[in-house]
Amino acid sequence: MSRRPRPPVYLLNGDEAQFVPTPELQAWAGTAVIAEDAALVNEDHAHLRLADIGFLWTNVENSRRGRRIIGQAELGEPQGAMGKWAKARAEAQVRGWFGEVPDFIITIDATYAAECGDAEFCALVEHELYHCGQERDPFGAPRFNRYGQPIWTMRGHDVEEFVGVVRRYGAEATGVRDLVEAANRGPEISGARVAHLCGTCGRSAA
Ligand SMILES: [Zn+2]
Repeated sequence: MSRRPRPPVYLLNGDEAQFVPTPELQAWAGTAVIAEDAALVNEDHAHLRLADIGFLWTNVENSRRGRRIIGQAELGEPQGAMGKWAKARAEAQVRGWFGEVPDFIITIDATYAAECGDAEFCALVEHELYHCGQERDPFGAPRFNRYGQPIWTMRGHDVEEFVGVVRRYGAEATGVRDLVEAANRGPEISGARVAHLCGTCGRSAA
């Protein structure tokens, strides 16, 4: 596996709040866990081989209930109730970062990413990738639009999804100690420790 991308030093040292697109991290996620021949391939992310995921580093600290938020996943198209100009402005910002509006945006805390170990970093990226889902029909089959493109959606964590991260990184990496069945098998990729939150679901991400 190629060395994981590092956030730029100017971002870590700067006082100004910034969000910096990182095509390196996007490429790394593909070669590390998404692609068929990825070094740590996880078939749970197979649908994302068709997805355009924009990654951002940020030096903006975030927290919830006193715990640090280190990552967040969302749909690329700005969501929520917005006026017409506010929505167009938000989309213009996203296009400025990525050239187009990606299917998903994953934001990573640059300070955390600069300091954490490789296993924690992988667990965090995979946690956020688990939020990037494809809609399913009532029979559980993946849904596509009339152009044959997947219909993307945000996914919460059901037990099954958490088992995936726990299986790969151990309960320590995710803070989901009650999922002992997966944890008892031992992590496939060891060495991660817990403690920080995902901003999308509010759960421990790494
Ligand atoms: Zn989450």
